[in-house]
Amino acid sequence: MSSGIRFDGVTVAYGGNVVLDSLDLTVEPGEVMALLGPSGSGKTTALRAVAGFVTPASGRVLIGDRDVTGLPPHKRGIGMVVQQYALFPHLRVADNVAFGLRAQKAPKAEIPGRVAEALEMTGMAAYAKRYPRELSGGQQQRVAIARALAIRPGVLLLDEPLSALDAQLRSGMLAELARLHRELPDVSILYVTHDQVEALTLADRIAVMDKARLRDCGTPQELYRRPRTEFTASFVGNANLLPVKVSPAGVSLDGTELDVPVSDGVAAGAAATLCVRPHLVGLGEGPNALRGTVAEVQWRGATHRLYVDVAGHRVMADVRELRETPALGDAVTLHFAPEDGVLLGAGVGGE
Ligand code: ADP
Repeated sequence: MSSGIRFDGVTVAYGGNVVLDSLDLTVEPGEVMALLGPSGSGKTTALRAVAGFVTPASGRVLIGDRDVTGLPPHKRGIGMVVQQYALFPHLRVADNVAFGLRAQKAPKAEIPGRVAEALEMTGMAAYAKRYPRELSGGQQQRVAIARALAIRPGVLLLDEPLSALDAQLRSGMLAELARLHRELPDVSILYVTHDQVEALTLADRIAVMDKARLRDCGTPQELYRRPRTEFTASFVGNANLLPVKVSPAGVSLDGTELDVPVSDGVAAGAAATLCVRPHLVGLGEGPNALRGTVAEVQWRGATHRLYVDVAGHRVMADVRELRETPALGDAVTLHFAPEDGVLLGAGVGGE
């Protein structure tokens, strides 16, 4: 079963306080869409509107072609996994996984096979008889995922599913989720996270949320390489954001002419922001030379992060294979290739 999700002008308010503002967003069948944004931006609310745990003040939620806005959660054909596993402590693993099937009144004879299949898929077949308290956090989360998958949902809703796990387990589970999605290519996944690594790793597209609104939506590569807003630029990856002037003659930073492509959305004569990713800034002479002094150096294993003050602006450069670490206060030159500069116009993206 393959079904996408569509938010059609979905607004949710609590006591007159709008926490999700006319969300329009489509998750294609089989697509992984990450909802990425800071805490309180409305991500969980959007997901709960799909699950049926919150009722929109206006707008519609569709799963496949079906308007589910008025349907109770158990009739929506969704699987859901939340941060805190939410397993039933008094039920063994197998009964936890069977729970949704029983609630759906699946034929009794089918249940053991479906439970075994879901536990197999999440690598938990050997733990069927245990109670949740006898499992580690990572194992409990696998059971929660098995429980969500047992009903063979067309739509899987994941709400910060990895945030209760430690860093090492998280990266293992991230790979597991990617594998599960490859095994279940028809399942549409809506994945709520505030972690850009999770979003960049797992998602086909990322919807960037801020203050109850959708700010941007695109593939990880699009958002990273061509962000449309300062918010996206700084939330998806690190960004140098420099205030520049755009004139018919070109782009300048404090009087220094720069060679960067001027996109259609940026008006000549207007103030704009130049976004350059730190790993695309090089040390030494080159195009778009920026002269400054070293304010801070951080060693990060594979790279050095240099913070360089350029005419009052702090510019970050992630430099590999640095032969000599510059000292604080050293005069240095940074540069970046013209195609690595992205101009963001003021007011782009409805800010
Ligand atoms: P996110 O998932 O992005 O952290 P949420 O969707 O959980 O954000 O919350 C968005 C806003 O809605 C927050 O300001 C939060 O305090 C508020 N909110 C969420 N649930 C409720 C509720 N049941 N009652 C009142 N306010 C709520």
